[in-house]
Amino acid sequence: MEQGPVLIVGAGHAGFQLAASLRQHHYGGRIVLINDEAHLPYQRPPLSKAYLKGGGAPDSLMFRPDKFYRDQNIELTADRAAFIDRAAHRLLLASGSFFDYGHLVLATGARNRLLDIPNANLEDVRYLRTLDESEALRQRITQGQRVVVVGAGFIGLEFAATARAKGLEVDVVELGPRVMARAVTAEISAFFEQRHAAAGIRIHFGVQATSIEGDSGRVTGVSLSDGRHVAADLVVVGVGVLPNVELAAEAGLPVGSGIIVNEQLLTSDPNISAIGDCALFDSPRFGASLRLESVQNATDHARCVAARLTGDAKTYDGLPWFWSDQGPDKLQIAGLTTGYDRVVVRGDAGQGSFSAFCYKAGQLVGVESVNRASDHVFGRKILGLNRSITPEQAADLRFDLKAALA
Ligand SMILES: Cc1cc2nc3c(=O)[nH]c(=O)nc-3n(C[C@H](O)[C@H](O)[C@H](O)COP(=O)(O)OP(=O)(O)OC[C@H]3O[C@@H](n4cnc5c(N)ncnc54)[C@H](O)[C@@H]3O)c2cc1C
Repeated sequence: MEQGPVLIVGAGHAGFQLAASLRQHHYGGRIVLINDEAHLPYQRPPLSKAYLKGGGAPDSLMFRPDKFYRDQNIELTADRAAFIDRAAHRLLLASGSFFDYGHLVLATGARNRLLDIPNANLEDVRYLRTLDESEALRQRITQGQRVVVVGAGFIGLEFAATARAKGLEVDVVELGPRVMARAVTAEISAFFEQRHAAAGIRIHFGVQATSIEGDSGRVTGVSLSDGRHVAADLVVVGVGVLPNVELAAEAGLPVGSGIIVNEQLLTSDPNISAIGDCALFDSPRFGASLRLESVQNATDHARCVAARLTGDAKTYDGLPWFWSDQGPDKLQIAGLTTGYDRVVVRGDAGQGSFSAFCYKAGQLVGVESVNRASDHVFGRKILGLNRSITPEQAADLRFDLKAALA
């Protein structure tokens, strides 16, 4: 059992969950949660969905009211971690103060990758990661405006669908040949391309934004690599994120495309762990190093570290799952849908309800479901138990997925 104090850098999904889980595991030591955002810890997924649409006040996003932190004796510190003195077990903060730690957990998340083209610094070139960014965007998007979204990944498409539903003219610029190409099968891409097009969103594939056009500091459009120019009043950039690894790197901890941790989420320093979006972890389940960006990954990492710090060390072996809401459609993904060699469709994309079952060497590795929650639920259970069903069973709607769990 860790004697503490436990210091947690970053109060996002991972940091918050770790503090809460430590208390659930009856950890009695000091917990300090260092929060560099000017809000109580909050959920990010609604920022590109319900919240952006205009639903609810900022309070509706908070994990817990401030009373929770007082009652649970979790010290929320509004500051930024600046340097780790590993020899002294001390964390220095931007304000100049410091905390000594028994165990330090880096839950620093990720930040937006910035667009590096002329005029990308104009005020109406926006990003969407924080509550402040979402709040500013929801004030900004009003009917009749023209927006260009750079990047057809999850966040770009969620934003595009919301903006279109609010009556904006929406163009999406995507370098790849299909939407969400790095994350989903061609079957899912094709479905969402058709749905977004039917909603009136124009998606331009195989092109890059090469410059933002402006007049007197206002955005007037975006120039594309094929010579075209798309008129716009607003540009929203969703070209991925960079993990916040600098604090770890400056302290001499190994980093790659994330802060490198072992299968227990421990860095090379036995007093420092890393969790969530910032962590590049060894996954025994997949026999690979993974860095994932999802609520499931962040919260399950946190629970695993909370268990270790309270005397129940485990290998982290969670099954990844994820969701994305785009307009009226819900996409849910279980497992890792990369490296597959066969895809089998269950249901009917034409009816707006289907799943893509992904196989690698005959073994089910992932299930992507559109508006088929029960496929997702049972797919997750099957994968979680390291079971499989045959491609023929997956494709046959008469086959009850529950049977695979018996
Ligand atoms: C708009 C949006 C929609 C999303 N939708 C979904 C979804 O539908 N489904 C899903 O599964 N996932 C979704 N995600 C991804 C999910 O929100 C992230 O995977 C999750 O937030 C990761 O949690 P985290 O705690 O690791 O990082 P974060 O939530 O990024 O939190 C890290 C925190 O650490 C802070 N920090 C960084 N450095 C320091 C420092 N030096 N000192 C102090 N604090 C620091 C950051 O400011 C931040 O507050 C979405 C993300 C976004 C942005």
